[in-house]
Amino acid sequence: MTKSIFKEPSDRDRLPENISPVGIVRQGESAIIIQWSDGMETPWTATQLRNCCPCATCREKKRGDEQKRAEKGKQLTVLPVLTTSEARPLRIESMKPAGSYAYNITFSDGHSSGIFAMAMLRGPEANP
Ligand SMILES: [Zn+2]
Repeated sequence: MTKSIFKEPSDRDRLPENISPVGIVRQGESAIIIQWSDGMETPWTATQLRNCCPCATCREKKRGDEQKRAEKGKQLTVLPVLTTSEARPLRIESMKPAGSYAYNITFSDGHSSGIFAMAMLRGPEANP
Protein backbone atom coordinates (compact mmCIF):
# COMPACT_ATOMS: atom_id res chain seq x y z
CA MET A 1 0.00 0.00 0.00
CA THR A 2 1.33 3.39 -0.91
CA LYS A 3 0.46 6.24 1.34
CA SER A 4 -0.35 9.54 -0.30
CA ILE A 5 2.05 12.26 0.68
CA PHE A 6 -0.17 14.93 -0.80
CA LYS A 7 -2.36 17.01 1.41
CA GLU A 8 -5.38 19.12 0.70
CA PRO A 9 -4.31 22.77 0.27
CA SER A 10 -6.32 23.75 3.32
CA ASP A 11 -4.54 21.25 5.59
CA ARG A 12 -2.12 23.86 6.82
CA ASP A 13 -5.05 25.79 8.30
CA ARG A 14 -6.36 22.79 10.13
CA LEU A 15 -5.23 21.22 13.37
CA PRO A 16 -5.19 17.53 14.15
CA GLU A 17 -8.68 16.16 14.83
CA ASN A 18 -8.03 15.80 18.55
CA ILE A 19 -6.91 19.41 19.07
CA SER A 20 -9.55 22.10 19.37
CA PRO A 21 -9.98 25.23 21.46
CA VAL A 22 -11.89 24.58 24.65
CA GLY A 23 -11.87 28.09 26.03
CA ILE A 24 -10.81 31.66 25.51
CA VAL A 25 -9.90 33.55 28.67
CA ARG A 26 -9.65 37.32 28.77
CA GLN A 27 -6.48 38.70 30.32
CA GLY A 28 -7.31 42.25 31.24
CA GLU A 29 -8.37 44.73 28.58
CA SER A 30 -6.28 43.78 25.63
CA ALA A 31 -5.09 40.19 25.84
CA ILE A 32 -6.52 36.68 25.70
CA ILE A 33 -5.37 33.14 26.39
CA ILE A 34 -6.67 30.38 24.15
CA GLN A 35 -6.95 27.03 25.92
CA TRP A 36 -6.68 23.88 23.83
CA SER A 37 -8.08 20.40 24.36
CA ASP A 38 -4.58 18.97 24.87
CA GLY A 39 -3.86 21.34 27.75
CA MET A 40 -1.73 23.81 25.84
CA GLU A 41 -2.41 27.52 26.25
CA THR A 42 -1.57 30.22 23.71
CA PRO A 43 -1.42 33.81 24.94
CA TRP A 44 -2.21 36.61 22.48
CA THR A 45 -2.48 40.35 22.77
CA ALA A 46 -5.01 42.18 20.63
CA THR A 47 -2.16 44.05 18.96
CA GLN A 48 -0.32 40.84 18.05
CA LEU A 49 -3.44 39.41 16.48
CA ARG A 50 -4.25 42.68 14.72
CA ASN A 51 -0.72 42.79 13.27
CA CYS A 52 -1.02 39.34 11.76
CA CYS A 53 -4.57 39.85 10.51
CA PRO A 54 -4.75 37.73 7.36
CA CYS A 55 -7.38 39.77 5.50
CA ALA A 56 -6.53 41.32 2.14
CA THR A 57 -6.70 44.92 3.42
CA CYS A 58 -4.15 44.29 6.17
CA ARG A 59 -1.83 42.32 3.92
CA GLU A 60 -1.89 45.24 1.47
CA LYS A 61 -1.29 47.75 4.24
CA LYS A 62 1.58 45.73 5.66
CA ARG A 63 3.25 45.60 2.26
CA GLY A 64 2.82 49.37 1.90
CA ASP A 65 4.21 49.99 5.39
CA GLU A 66 7.25 47.85 4.68
CA GLN A 67 7.90 49.78 1.50
CA LYS A 68 7.52 53.09 3.33
CA ARG A 69 9.84 51.87 6.09
CA ALA A 70 12.43 50.86 3.51
CA GLU A 71 12.25 54.32 1.95
CA LYS A 72 12.37 56.03 5.35
CA GLY A 73 15.41 54.00 6.26
CA LYS A 74 17.38 56.02 3.76
CA GLN A 75 16.29 59.26 5.40
CA LEU A 76 16.48 60.44 9.00
CA THR A 77 14.72 58.37 11.59
CA VAL A 78 11.45 60.07 12.44
CA LEU A 79 9.25 59.04 15.35
CA PRO A 80 5.82 58.03 14.10
CA VAL A 81 2.93 60.20 15.24
CA LEU A 82 0.10 58.10 16.64
CA THR A 83 -3.50 59.02 16.06
CA THR A 84 -5.83 58.93 19.06
CA SER A 85 -7.23 55.53 18.12
CA GLU A 86 -3.74 54.11 17.67
CA ALA A 87 -2.60 55.43 21.04
CA ARG A 88 -5.47 53.75 22.87
CA PRO A 89 -4.80 50.10 23.70
CA LEU A 90 -6.42 47.82 21.18
CA ARG A 91 -9.00 45.39 22.50
CA ILE A 92 -10.68 42.29 21.16
CA GLU A 93 -14.41 42.97 20.99
CA SER A 94 -15.51 39.50 19.98
CA MET A 95 -14.38 36.15 18.59
CA LYS A 96 -16.87 34.20 16.52
CA PRO A 97 -16.26 30.72 15.11
CA ALA A 98 -15.98 30.79 11.30
CA GLY A 99 -16.60 27.26 10.19
CA SER A 100 -14.85 24.60 12.21
CA TYR A 101 -11.31 25.72 11.62
CA ALA A 102 -11.17 29.48 12.13
CA TYR A 103 -12.30 32.46 14.18
CA ASN A 104 -13.58 35.81 12.99
CA ILE A 105 -12.19 38.46 15.33
CA THR A 106 -13.64 41.94 15.83
CA PHE A 107 -11.20 44.51 17.20
CA SER A 108 -11.99 47.69 19.13
CA ASP A 109 -10.80 49.77 16.18
CA GLY A 110 -13.79 48.46 14.25
CA HIS A 111 -11.84 46.02 12.09
CA SER A 112 -13.61 42.69 11.69
CA SER A 113 -12.77 41.17 8.32
CA GLY A 114 -9.95 38.91 9.49
CA ILE A 115 -10.53 35.16 9.56
CA PHE A 116 -7.91 33.63 11.84
CA ALA A 117 -7.23 29.95 11.19
CA MET A 118 -7.05 27.73 14.28
CA ALA A 119 -3.57 26.61 13.27
CA MET A 120 -2.44 30.23 13.30
CA LEU A 121 -4.13 30.92 16.63
CA ARG A 122 -2.49 27.85 18.07
CA GLY A 123 0.83 29.60 17.62
CA PRO A 124 4.09 29.16 15.74
CA GLU A 125 4.60 25.69 17.19
CA ALA A 126 1.69 24.36 15.14
CA ASN A 127 2.84 26.26 12.07
CA PRO A 128 6.54 25.66 11.69
ZN1 LIG B 1 -7.43 42.79 8.49
